[in-house]
Amino acid sequence: MGSCPYCGGNTIEWRAIEGGGTLYSWTTVHHAFLSDRRTSLPYIVGLVEFADAPGVRLITNIVETGSGRLFERMPLVPIIGLGPQPTVKFRPVETG
Ligand SMILES: [Zn+2]
Repeated sequence: MGSCPYCGGNTIEWRAIEGGGTLYSWTTVHHAFLSDRRTSLPYIVGLVEFADAPGVRLITNIVETGSGRLFERMPLVPIIGLGPQPTVKFRPVETG
C-alpha cells in the first residue's frame, strides 16, 4: 500500500465505511476514448467524497441522473456491481 499524501506516513490500514458520499466535482463525457464505451455516451464521471472518510475521494461514474440535475455536495449512494470485474458507481439519494 502507498503512503499518506499529507504527511508521508506509511502506517495505513483498510477500514470499512458506510459508502455514502457527496459529489465533489464532475464532467460529462461526450466522446469515448475506449470503443466499448461509445454505446453509453454521454456518461458522467464524478469525484465523490465519502461521508465517513472526509478527504477520501473516488473517481467513478454517476448514474440514474442527468448532468443538468447535479450540484456540488449532492448526496449520493453507491451501487455495487459484483462479478468478474466488480464496479462501484454512484446515484443520487432518492428524495420525496
Ligand atoms: Zn498523514
